[in-house]
Amino acid sequence: MNNRRTLLGSSSSTIKSHNLRAILLTLLRRESISRVHLAQLTGLSTTTITNLISELLAEGIVIEIGAEKREPSQGAGRPRTGLQLVPEARYAIGVHIGIGAVYVTVTDLRAHPVIELSLDFEVGQPPEKVLPRMVDLVQEAIETSGVNPAHIVGIGVGASGLVDPYEGVNVIAPTLGWRDVPIRDWLSQRLGLPVTVDNNVRAMALGEAMFGPEQDVYVLAFVYARIGLAAGFVVGGQLYRGAGAGAGEIGHTTIIPNGGEHCRCGNTGCLETLFSEPVIVRLAHEIATKNPRGKLAQHLRRAETLDTVFDAARNGDESTLDMLRERARYMGIALANLVNTLNPELIVFGGIFEQGADLLLPTVEATMRERAFADLGERVRLKTTSFSKRPGIIGAAALALNAFFYQNSDVLPRKTVAHRSDEVWN
Ligand SMILES: [Zn+2]
Repeated sequence: MNNRRTLLGSSSSTIKSHNLRAILLTLLRRESISRVHLAQLTGLSTTTITNLISELLAEGIVIEIGAEKREPSQGAGRPRTGLQLVPEARYAIGVHIGIGAVYVTVTDLRAHPVIELSLDFEVGQPPEKVLPRMVDLVQEAIETSGVNPAHIVGIGVGASGLVDPYEGVNVIAPTLGWRDVPIRDWLSQRLGLPVTVDNNVRAMALGEAMFGPEQDVYVLAFVYARIGLAAGFVVGGQLYRGAGAGAGEIGHTTIIPNGGEHCRCGNTGCLETLFSEPVIVRLAHEIATKNPRGKLAQHLRRAETLDTVFDAARNGDESTLDMLRERARYMGIALANLVNTLNPELIVFGGIFEQGADLLLPTVEATMRERAFADLGERVRLKTTSFSKRPGIIGAAALALNAFFYQNSDVLPRKTVAHRSDEVWN
């Protein structure tokens, strides 16, 4: 049995794992810290701290540095030896399954990417065709990164749609046409590493909560839109998944009660039929068709993409600005409902919100603040993701780091998420 398994794995007692994780999380959140200060923050005895830290020192996961960086509240006194997490001591792999593309990264313990690779696939391809290529891409990422494979703690996978995180199965991915795909078992059998699978937007929420600049937020919501629209929640440092791992499907909240458009979920009038990348591009196309000599039509002649629509708006095309404001109002209403339900402290936006933050967020924010109950809307803070275009892979890596390093995944209560037996796969 190798060291990374004995350090935090099944051979450690539960109490020891729990204590180690408390220490690692505290080290993650600070640049350097003394043993005494660590004992104060974790509530562990100095003897326990000393013993566990010597193990971490022996493993190379922690190093001693000159002196602790003291906060003003700690006052003066003799400088104490500081302890620091060594980010390059272990690595994680993040796999983000997007619509028509798979992104893979290898990151260190602070979720800094060492390498990023991607592959494209045709939407509608069966998972049996895509997963083998995903395995090859992960292997290529490990080899190219130059990281010692023995130092990789695991793989995190962010998949779209409904995911059973307890079995690692992608139950339904409507945009890909996938059902009951046993991603965890498929990858772990071929790559020989522990694999954690969860919904991709939920993974983004975890990545932001663990590795974003604001780590002491009690209730964080991550809202992501591109082809689809969903949210992920982190409450008290833990992912909030709901009773059947379905929490956050805000794209399928009803906004138009009668006569709304058909949604791919089978309902009509869902938020997703009003606000998403394809919807905005389609509406722009309709505006341009009606006014072929307008500014928007000129932009769309280059390419009918979200970027050209946003360019037309930034160049002052009123019809495009009106359309975006109208769509942002729908989104703001949905967000007010979310704020009333969850009462988050911070909402982080990714995807098209980040791409068009200047055009969309002012109206989204104003509508949300105006509509939310009492002062709930005034108190919530909004920001775009700290990871620019890649909250997906950072989030996926966070799943692996969280499962192995920072939280005992064995203590997850076992829940059953209804899905069919995977006869195709066995
Ligand atoms: Zn729907």
